[in-house]
Amino acid sequence: MPLRAKVATSVSKTAAALSRAAGRGDGSVIGGWIGLKIDPELLNHLAGGRAIALVSGTNGKTTTTRLTAAALEVMGRVATNSFGANMPTGHTSALAKAGSTPFAVLEVDEHYLARVIDATEPRVVALLNLSRDQLDRAKEVAMMAQLWRDALANHPDVRVVANADDPMVVWAAEGSGHVTWFSAGQRWHDDSFVCPQSGHPIERSGGDWWCAGCPLRRPQPQWRVEDEGVVDPRGDWHLVKLQLPGTVNLGNAATALAVAAEFGVRPIEALPRLATVSSVAGRYAQVDRDGRNVRLLLAKNPASWLEAFDMAEQAPTLLSVNARDPDGLDTSWLYDVDFSPLRDRPVLITGDRAYDLAVRLEVNGVAFRHVKTFDEAIQGVPAGRLEVIANYTAFQDIRAELDRVL
Ligand SMILES: [Zn+2]
Repeated sequence: MPLRAKVATSVSKTAAALSRAAGRGDGSVIGGWIGLKIDPELLNHLAGGRAIALVSGTNGKTTTTRLTAAALEVMGRVATNSFGANMPTGHTSALAKAGSTPFAVLEVDEHYLARVIDATEPRVVALLNLSRDQLDRAKEVAMMAQLWRDALANHPDVRVVANADDPMVVWAAEGSGHVTWFSAGQRWHDDSFVCPQSGHPIERSGGDWWCAGCPLRRPQPQWRVEDEGVVDPRGDWHLVKLQLPGTVNLGNAATALAVAAEFGVRPIEALPRLATVSSVAGRYAQVDRDGRNVRLLLAKNPASWLEAFDMAEQAPTLLSVNARDPDGLDTSWLYDVDFSPLRDRPVLITGDRAYDLAVRLEVNGVAFRHVKTFDEAIQGVPAGRLEVIANYTAFQDIRAELDRVL
């Protein structure tokens, strides 16, 4: 590495460590920011010499990154941004902190994918899904697909691992020379009912989909979820045992196996490592308190709320919604989510915007009770499982409260 990059790396690590010592989070954003100020090419330098996988999409990228990193550890040490700092500052910091490693798996915010591909020259890019996110900030879904498509067209040697079930992802990836398709399902269809190529409707039947007016259609996936396992490109079925709940995470595991296979890792080698992942940046974590087993699920946009309902057991469920800056300020997305799957279980609500949620649940015919604090929620349910589904800052609030008490 050039001297400037070495200095920038060292200062970046020091700044991150100071920030951690001061109790200001994991320091990866500030560390990366300072490093890039000293050497704007620092991410390029740090990426050099590593075989890299990038993971992007609206939902599931933190979990899929964690699973993919676990799978790649079969081959050697893996650098990863496991705390979800998924912009170039976070990538820079993660690589600086890890030192020299043969591999890296990086979660990438979908807006930054083109830039991070340019900087890191990855071997593999995994594309999970595209759906509406924070309404006051995110780009239109079709615009994002176009950005991805252009980025991949500029890098024809990159191997792409892409979700065959999402028409937006398929359109973004189909121009690429080397695509491996996986099927991880798509629960949320509302952002992909119009073909991004021709503007015609997307028709669906069972798991299949096709455009009514042009050749765009679902490609045959090489990797797919079947029952409690994953079928690989040779047609062999592998039982997947995860500590993470739901078929959504089976899909994430299928993606991780497909990405790892691009590096020469076989499913039989990777699967025991996937089974060791018990929580991802606090998500899916289970905490016992006063006889209640609390499980934390993060839901940050309409598609991920549907996924959380799929993961949650039939048990008392606490919903918490905030609308602070990281969440997006607009809560009208609540009306995009069908909360009726919660009708047959006790529902508690809390958070800054609990009253927005209350109106939505009332319209949806879901009975609920409002609680002011997390502690009140704990006391308000019987012993046993309490599922907690919260959006971003609400999730952080509840984690902090659990940490404080424990
Ligand atoms: Zn079309």
